[in-house]
Amino acid sequence: MKIVVCVKQVPGAAAVKIDPETRRLVREGVAAILNPFDYHALEEAVRIREAVGGEIHVLTMGPSRAEEVLRESLAFGADHAVLLCDRKFAGSDTWATSYALALAIKKIGAVDLVLCGRQAIDGDTAQVGPGIAGHLGWPQACGVASVSLENDRAILVSRMMDDGYDRCRIRLPAVLATVRELNEPRVPRLAGWIRALERPVTTWNAADLGADVAFLGLNGSPTRVISTSPAGMRSGETRLIDRTPVESATEILRELRLMGAM
Ligand SMILES: Cc1cc2nc3c(=O)[nH]c(=O)nc-3n(C[C@H](O)[C@H](O)[C@H](O)COP(=O)(O)OP(=O)(O)OC[C@H]3O[C@@H](n4cnc5c(N)ncnc54)[C@H](O)[C@@H]3O)c2cc1C
Repeated sequence: MKIVVCVKQVPGAAAVKIDPETRRLVREGVAAILNPFDYHALEEAVRIREAVGGEIHVLTMGPSRAEEVLRESLAFGADHAVLLCDRKFAGSDTWATSYALALAIKKIGAVDLVLCGRQAIDGDTAQVGPGIAGHLGWPQACGVASVSLENDRAILVSRMMDDGYDRCRIRLPAVLATVRELNEPRVPRLAGWIRALERPVTTWNAADLGADVAFLGLNGSPTRVISTSPAGMRSGETRLIDRTPVESATEILRELRLMGAM
């Protein structure tokens, strides 16, 4: 089974800031990490490869420093890494991002399954996975909390809903956006990190993808951020419970029951 895992480099949770002038995320000079949701996609890919064999390609679009998350993914167990890096990609919205990623998946070739995280903790749209499926014309499922292969042409997944789970059979090739409940990601071992340093990272630009530059970057993006604003603070009464931990917990439970929250 040939699996592509899409991973994104994001600012560390405490570091997300928006430039008030450009209304874009400030990425320069802030700590960057692998999007936490993407570990679950990586873990599932490794588990599938352990079960049925195959190869894992990890893919990201970002600046050259995004190679860091590819190295981490290689340490995690991915076999190959591709970085999409070109100034022409800069400013892409989710549609343009998923267009470029879809072209890369086509270029990798003969892919059976694409795994994404549920959402990126900076952009937060959860649109890129479904966007990739749209560009490729492949079936897709979001909120995937369990995966089992039926055969080499179909996969069974359960999708997490507000009030339960959907069981679906999906024809391959397909795109899945995974949730935390899917698995417990492993911690890469030292041998994995050493292997990761030795493996090549392939870099493709817009021309390598055969991309139509009219569909890339800010100008190729059908959406624009018009304004951003902080979420309003919730108003409400605050009460300090200054007792022992057990008494405080008992009091909080009592209050929650009175509020009908339990
Ligand atoms: C209207 C709009 C305008 C924007 N304008 C700008 C802008 O001007 N400048 C700018 O820097 N950003 C801009 N962005 C943000 C940019 O579009 C997003 O960073 C990017 O498209 C990914 O979207 P997301 O972060 O919401 O990812 P989500 O859709 O929440 O991510 C879901 C999953 O998709 C995969 N994924 C997401 N992004 C990537 C990636 N780059 N590589 C590989 N896999 C990925 C990961 O598996 C991730 O878990 C804009 C976003 C919007 C909605």
